[in-house]
Amino acid sequence: MNNFKVITKIEELPKDIIENVEIGIINLRTGDLKVINEISFRCHSTTACCRLHTIPLTENDVLRIEKHGYELFQFLKETSPVLILSKIKKGHYTKAYILKKKPFSNECVFLENNKCKIHEFKPIACKLYPFSIRRDEGDEDKVTVIVHPESVCTSVKKCSIKQYAEKFNEDINEVMGSKQILEFIYDLIKENEVQTID
Ligand code: SF4
Repeated sequence: MNNFKVITKIEELPKDIIENVEIGIINLRTGDLKVINEISFRCHSTTACCRLHTIPLTENDVLRIEKHGYELFQFLKETSPVLILSKIKKGHYTKAYILKKKPFSNECVFLENNKCKIHEFKPIACKLYPFSIRRDEGDEDKVTVIVHPESVCTSVKKCSIKQYAEKFNEDINEVMGSKQILEFIYDLIKENEVQTID
């Protein structure tokens, strides 16, 4: 048994990541992965992210969800995109649509019995969570993978896989370290031709 508690309010998010942490750099042309900081993570499916965060959607996300039979009014807060201030790139904005929440509970409309109803085609932000990617100006081939304090979930820590497994009584094979995180995100980028959400 691990000791991760379910977060019910944004103020309860853990404070061990207090500033942006660069996990590493992916070279999209060569596939080289460079780890910068040791981060470990295992999703515990608390679904706190589906209840506590505003989820941005790219245009590709909207089209993909629509293709699976959902109407815009069912999953978009507004049919127009909004500008969202970047959390990882100072002074930058991203244009995005906002995923609709259920009234009163404030959880995502696709969350049902603590499971994502659209898991196979969920938004790229949900696939990436709790990580973000930043395309640095001047070098189109490279993206930096980051974890930032406002997006952080209880299951991501600044330590090695071994330390994580020992501290939280986890199977070491179930924990992702920085290298596996970079590999996972590189695969996502290749599969989805990701539009960056900073
Ligand atoms: S789409 Fe799925 S993963 Fe994303 S917030 Fe909604 S329920 Fe959670």
